[in-house]
Parts: sequence; structure tokens; C-alpha cells
Amino acid sequence: MGVAWRIGPYTFKVTKRSFKPDKHNHYGLTRYPECTVRLNTTGNEALDAQTAFHELLHCIFYAHGYHELNDDEILIDTLALHLAENATVS
Ligand SMILES: [Zn+2]
Repeated sequence: MGVAWRIGPYTFKVTKRSFKPDKHNHYGLTRYPECTVRLNTTGNEALDAQTAFHELLHCIFYAHGYHELNDDEILIDTLALHLAENATVS
């Protein structure tokens, strides 16, 4: 049984594994029509958390129809960075 993110009417199937980042240095990949999310596990807790929040934000913006915001990688990355910072603080 894998992890899934339920966001509105969508259920995104999430898989985590170690893989080589692509040439754009992407550590995660969300495919909207298929509702799948691939997360790279690097062993770096902060990076992996940021990647998970980054892809989760893409899914949330997609589900709510915020397509213009969803294309703003700087906004997504900034939000993900700060969510990850606080999620990993004990
Ligand atoms: Zn992105």
C-alpha cells in the first residue's frame, strides 16, 4: 500500500525512491492527467521535505485551478522551502 494525497476530487499516488535528478535538477515529478507524484529520496531530510512540499503545492494549485500560480516555480519553491523548514523543526 503506497502513500496517496487526497486533494479535492483528486487522489495523487505518491512513490518515493532514489533516482538521478534530471538535467533541470528536478527532484520530484507530478503528472496531472495520471495523478502521480514521484519523489526522489536523497537521504537529505531537508531536501526531501522541500521536494515533497513542492510537489504537494503543485497538486493543491492544480486541484483548485490556479494554473498561473502553479506555473510559478519560484513561488512554489519559496513556499516549499519555508514549509519544509518548519516541518523539520522539532
Ligand atoms: Zn515545480
